[in-house]
Amino acid sequence: MANPLYDRLFGKHAGKPTPFLHLPDGAVLTHDAFLQMAARLAHVLTGLGLRPGDRLAAQVQKSPEALALYAACVQAGVVFLPLNTGYTVDELAYFIENSGAALVVCDGPGATALAPVCNRLGAGLKTLNADGSGSLTGDMAGMPASFATAERTEEDLAALLYTSGTTGRSKGAMLTQTNLLSNAETLVEYWRFTADDVLLHALPIFHTHGLFVATNVTLAAGGAMVFLPKFDLDAIIGWMPRATAMMGVPTFYTRLLDDARFTRDLASHMRLFISGSAPLLAETHRQFEERTGHRILERYGMTETNMNTSNPYDGERRAGTVGFPLPGVELKITDPATGETVAPGEVGQIEVRGDNVFKGYWQMPEKTREELRDDGFFITGDLGRIDEEGYVHIVGRNKDLIISGGYNIYPKEVEIVLDEQPGVLESAVIGVPHPDFGETVLGIIVPKPGEMPDLDAISEAVAASLARFKHPRKLIVVDELPRNTMAKVQKNLLREAYADTFA
Ligand code: ATP
Ligand code: MG
Repeated sequence: MANPLYDRLFGKHAGKPTPFLHLPDGAVLTHDAFLQMAARLAHVLTGLGLRPGDRLAAQVQKSPEALALYAACVQAGVVFLPLNTGYTVDELAYFIENSGAALVVCDGPGATALAPVCNRLGAGLKTLNADGSGSLTGDMAGMPASFATAERTEEDLAALLYTSGTTGRSKGAMLTQTNLLSNAETLVEYWRFTADDVLLHALPIFHTHGLFVATNVTLAAGGAMVFLPKFDLDAIIGWMPRATAMMGVPTFYTRLLDDARFTRDLASHMRLFISGSAPLLAETHRQFEERTGHRILERYGMTETNMNTSNPYDGERRAGTVGFPLPGVELKITDPATGETVAPGEVGQIEVRGDNVFKGYWQMPEKTREELRDDGFFITGDLGRIDEEGYVHIVGRNKDLIISGGYNIYPKEVEIVLDEQPGVLESAVIGVPHPDFGETVLGIIVPKPGEMPDLDAISEAVAASLARFKHPRKLIVVDELPRNTMAKVQKNLLREAYADTFA
């Protein structure tokens, strides 16, 4: 009997009295207690009629039980489908219907609205609250603390994870056991995780970053996590002296830097800060090093592939880059028109291949064919280039590329210049319709708190450093950029909002 994902992430910790989760109130859940919780849940799931290959959709708050539900699904061979806690009932209906979920787990208050949806779609419905109570867990107590692990192969589906929906409707990425396992084991080595690590975990667990990168890496290494329900500055600052590593989105790092309690001394016990999910500003990278002496390690990945590239552990962690392809991941930059590899240093679409690359989009054969080549390369939808030293730079998403008067403009190139200007906190550069040029460049600027950037001076600075066709035709100041729950800037919303600027 074998189930590689369960055996190599979870099962190997059976019986260990070592800490796995440090909880906000100071309580500790050991590896063994966590596995017992998962086994009881696996009995509950099979008792509800779930069989290997069935999908379980969960929209639940972050809790040890919610994480154990992931483990229980792996052990019972059920395909785990975590959902963003921000989704509305209408959005959930799409995911439940699209995935054909056999069981939906939500929190108590959400159940009333979801019941008719589940009825209509023939899915079961159980509840799991933030405190671990609910109709799902209510049945756990009487269950055995061990479960006969369902047999699975490395090619079986482990999870259906929907993309963040930044560029359009979320797509369900089919992830196999190998996809998850190979990436977790690669990252443990690359980032030097061991059983002594204590990871500050403040990310949501419905997304690849918090669920697969953070949790699977910790499990594979046998370490522990400080398991916080959300990013809370006081909690992070309180726990940091007991932690060794943190994974975060860029806003975690800007928020830490905004707090005077975050000092070199506070971070002295930490060995590693990792950033991803959205681009880290070079400015944040510099400030962080100045304040703490640590260089943030930026990496690049996505729902469909787990992690693809990472800055090095020992070598130079270079601001504004996402480092090198991970061992076992092939990465090439191609011409979108021909699919051929571009000349060294040129910008093109990023394609990746490796054990980490998903098996396709759930029930979207056409979309899968468009993005996943027969030879196994996945067209990521991101544009980038590789510099002389092999560092990968991301210049934006293919869908955000601006074509003005026949010229390609990569938003990132303009954003870098805008971000450097006095009084500018961050910026977003988008293309909007223009009667003469088809599309033209719009620069949207967020000022630093309490400052009002001089737009004329910024236009002059841009004119001095970029070719004329790249100059924003207009600069607009806003308080903040629209972001989704994963802190990603939603350029499609900006494009809609400013579509009529030159019409
Ligand atoms: P959708 O595919 O539904 O539009 P999404 O692509 O935002 O949503 P995710 O899979 O959560 O969904 O995000 C992956 C994307 O995040 C990557 O394709 C890339 O654009 C971006 N990303 C991840 N890490 C980085 C990074 N370090 N720097 C820049 N962009 C990053
Ligand atoms: Mg995507």
